Amino acid sequence: MNEPILAYLPGSPERAELQQRLAQMSSQRIHIPLVIGGERVETGTTFEAVMPHKHAHVLADVERGDASHVERAIAAAGRAHETWSRTPWHERVAVFLRAAELLSGPWRSTLNAATMLNQSKTVHQAEIDASCETIDFLRYNADYLVRIYGEQPVSSQGVWNRMEYRALEGFVLAISPFNFTAIGANLTTSPALMGNTVVWKPASTQALSAWYTMRLLEEAGLPPGVINLVFGPGAEIGAAALSSPDLAGVHFTGSTGVFQGIWRTIGSGIDRYRNYPRIVGETGGKDFILAHPSADPAEVSAAVIRGSFEYQGQKCSASSRLYIPSNLWSDVRDTLQREVSQIAMGDVRDFTNFMGAVIDGSSFRTQVEAIAEAREAGAEIVVGGGSDDSEGWFVEPTVVETDDPGFRLLRDELFGPVVTAYVYDESRWDETLDLVDTTSAYALTGAVFADDRSAIEQAHDRLRYAAGNFYVNDKPTGAVVGQQPFGGARASGTNDKAGSMWNLIRWVSPRTVKETL
Ligand code: GLU
Repeated sequence: MNEPILAYLPGSPERAELQQRLAQMSSQRIHIPLVIGGERVETGTTFEAVMPHKHAHVLADVERGDASHVERAIAAAGRAHETWSRTPWHERVAVFLRAAELLSGPWRSTLNAATMLNQSKTVHQAEIDASCETIDFLRYNADYLVRIYGEQPVSSQGVWNRMEYRALEGFVLAISPFNFTAIGANLTTSPALMGNTVVWKPASTQALSAWYTMRLLEEAGLPPGVINLVFGPGAEIGAAALSSPDLAGVHFTGSTGVFQGIWRTIGSGIDRYRNYPRIVGETGGKDFILAHPSADPAEVSAAVIRGSFEYQGQKCSASSRLYIPSNLWSDVRDTLQREVSQIAMGDVRDFTNFMGAVIDGSSFRTQVEAIAEAREAGAEIVVGGGSDDSEGWFVEPTVVETDDPGFRLLRDELFGPVVTAYVYDESRWDETLDLVDTTSAYALTGAVFADDRSAIEQAHDRLRYAAGNFYVNDKPTGAVVGQQPFGGARASGTNDKAGSMWNLIRWVSPRTVKETL
């Protein structure tokens, strides 16, 4: 069963506890070290972890690692590998199930508060991510492990055959993004569950939740060196880790450009590795909502609002292009203008806000420039378009309308609260299916809305490579572990479905043993 989502209603005990934790974390400025072989490591330089919705407010000073710390982390991972990879699987599973229980109980408010403050998530967005999805990853992956290990070859008279699901030989490099605390937890714990040891480089904008995730795992009994936490500049940390002959795998979520750089570095240096590194990654998306002329305009509008603007559009799965037929547009447009202009945005400690700030100044500028560029190109700003970075990096939820099907904002990922609508002639459904399929190089998520069953089937067939997670009459965000394994192909990643057996299987190197009796 998936972890139940708590509502944090006024007067509820979970709300009181979370508010207390938020107040406490907001009033302190903590120090976050690296964690290498279980030891707290200082580096001599730090960077600041701030609140995106109040960027002058520093939450923590975070140690900045460099190549020498990566080397130490790889050595610590190597030492831990000796015992951890030989630890019986039920003992490994116990650590992660214990972490799930701790997070379901006493740790919940800590990880939620860290995610709200440092990543600017609203209470609901933090709850479904830092708590529920993280717990689900931990519990479901334990189940998948059992299924994988149970998969055994047949034996015959006098011959005993078996498969040993060994950990990979070497360390796994986990690189996690700011947008989901649960992703950082999964990128590290899924290889570790299968007996691997890990060097973890989280996004600098995720420092607070990464630190508390690490401490939660330690409290659950994770032995020193199994996961080693190294903050620092991505290019330097990455280059140091990728140059090690012991690199056995990369577990990545982040930008397409960085992921392609990892493939290039590994490919061009392939002679140096003892094993061919496993490369598993999820990158960007230009996720679509496609409405058929038979769709219900109210449902489409609601899906756009939640799919494009929850967490400020900073989900890889967020809908950022809308294909809407001419017969529905005036209705959907009116609804979006009315509803979106009323969206409450601000400090996430005020639980009535539906949106917080975008993650940093660089993302803020990306959104602002894209909106300006859209205006200059003659696109219409249907609603929103404003921004204000005086206190926090706030970008209004924005709907752009273009009549150019090749418009840049229908192709390139912005990772912010901007959705671009293309209105198609209602008689051109067929051509629109091709447009949806070919306009963007990504293929992560997509949603089709229709009442007409044959239209759903056409979209299902014609868009079969356009999205790894395909939604019918629902928004394209919010995949639930165990229910909708997550990931996409094309430029969106290797599609090794987070929260599934297909992901875990990448973290084992099976040995076949034939023994004559
Ligand atoms: N799994 C999340 C969802 O379905 C998105 C994860 C991501 O942004 O990478 O909304």
